[in-house]
Amino acid sequence: MPAPDVLQAGPESPVSTAERLADELETQLHISPVACAEEARRAAADAATNGDALAELVASYYLAAAARLSGTDDEALQLCDRADELADALDEPVWRARSLQTRALVHQGAGDDETTIDLLESAVEICRGAGDTAALAQAMTLLGRAFAAIPGFSARAASTLGTARRLWISCRDRDGAVSAQVSLAITYLATSGELAVQNSPGAAAAARQALAAARLAVQEADAAGLAELSVDARLALVDALLACDGPQADLDQALESAASFLSRFPVPGRCLVLHRQRATRLVKSGAAADAVTEARAGLAKCASIDRPREREALLRLLAESLTSTGDLASAVQALTDLTESLQRRSRQSAERRGTVISARLDTERARRSADRERRRAAALEQRNAELAWEAEHDPLTGLANRRALDLALETLAPAPDRPVSICLVDVDRFKRINDTLSHQAGDRVLIQIAQSLRGAVRHGDLPARYGGEEFALVLPGADTEAALMVADRVRRGVEQLMWPFAVPEGRVTVSIGVVTSTGPVQPAELVARADAALYAAKDAGRNRVMQG
Ligand code: GH3
Ligand code: MG
Ligand code: MG
Repeated sequence: MPAPDVLQAGPESPVSTAERLADELETQLHISPVACAEEARRAAADAATNGDALAELVASYYLAAAARLSGTDDEALQLCDRADELADALDEPVWRARSLQTRALVHQGAGDDETTIDLLESAVEICRGAGDTAALAQAMTLLGRAFAAIPGFSARAASTLGTARRLWISCRDRDGAVSAQVSLAITYLATSGELAVQNSPGAAAAARQALAAARLAVQEADAAGLAELSVDARLALVDALLACDGPQADLDQALESAASFLSRFPVPGRCLVLHRQRATRLVKSGAAADAVTEARAGLAKCASIDRPREREALLRLLAESLTSTGDLASAVQALTDLTESLQRRSRQSAERRGTVISARLDTERARRSADRERRRAAALEQRNAELAWEAEHDPLTGLANRRALDLALETLAPAPDRPVSICLVDVDRFKRINDTLSHQAGDRVLIQIAQSLRGAVRHGDLPARYGGEEFALVLPGADTEAALMVADRVRRGVEQLMWPFAVPEGRVTVSIGVVTSTGPVQPAELVARADAALYAAKDAGRNRVMQG
């Protein structure tokens, strides 16, 4: 590609503005959701002022993602609604899928696994349809993790994460590939935990799978120099070694390596995991007093970080190790704290679920009301179109009615080089048809003659029902010769029609009066002349064309 020419660079395209905004907000989101939300709010306002809908979509999405991470579920869901709306309007399926993913994570946080899976599966479908491999890999990774969190779904979790990993590899995203690999290790660990009670060989096999997966994750993360994932992979490796009851030396080495990585990239949540792992290791090896110290060190950190599950695991370990040391009073206290924590969490999750359900009901209500409005508007539009049609057409034959015919005649401007002809067509002895057959049969005859008239004229001509059993043809641009030809074609066409009932004399015929004008003339006068010609045709014996 040639080097960009600065002088020729045009104004920045909206796509690149939105892309740059997305990159900035993505980075910010992981550092500080609050700062990300502030920036996104500013960007959304700017985008609205500049009319840049794509940037507004990006900003709304990050506002939703930041609101989720800040724990304001109802706000996150409302912001997802806005992002969905913009993504639909702009036809941006990948952003639509991202918004669905954020929505899914809100539901996952609220413990609604069913909705979480539904939403993520829709996101996967959308990304697949859009043909965006990286977006599909991301959606599959989230879906795999969501399966992993549901007891009994670990096989689906593993296969989904396996697919996600292959997709990440195919788009050369090492970060994504390693992240899927770490999730895979965690999934096997969950399987092992689930099987532990009823199927210990199965649990051991899953633990071995976890170990292999974690080892690969460590290797890949190190090779790619991915600091955060190196820590996650090591922590998964330690958990796998604990689940496998692996050799102490391996376990200690892995713990040490995880600790050393963590000291370089300290993240409070991960430090808690390490405390829990160390305490577990100490409990297993019978060093109860050290385990108490380790668990307490972890619990002290829990005061400043909200990780109820890790805290509960530490309380369990604390209670167990205190019991071993014989400090039963403190053990009972730890168990009481544990019970309180479990109860609080179950209460909070019920409340969260309530908020999410009520937000969903609000959204559905708003959607239903918007649907109703849309349907009402569509019905109104259709009715208006019907009324407009009815105002200008004859309901029996569907031809233009007298009103439309009069309007068309008003606007005629015959000239020597552009004559206009009019034919008046009257059904011969139509009364007999009504009288000998029925009025309905008469109607059928009128409908069929109307069809025949429609077929006999060309585009731009106007066939109309003049009234009763009389029709008119307005033929702009037709001189006398052409008009007589059309009229005779009509006459013959009607004469040859086949009837499903026995019409008098076996056929229906029409008489036609034709006039042509090549200069300014009153429409009424033209019609009167045509009428006179028509009566002349009647007088001359019917089933004929006369010129007026
Ligand atoms: P002519 O050859 O002299 O035109 O004879 P005619 O019988 O066609 O003429 P007349 O004017 O006596 O009769 C027209 C009849 O058309 C009378 C009327 O009842 C009937 N008619 C008018 N409008 C309709 C309609 O919409 N449906 C039906 N079935 N009959 C109609
Ligand atoms: Mg008549
Ligand atoms: Mg008649």
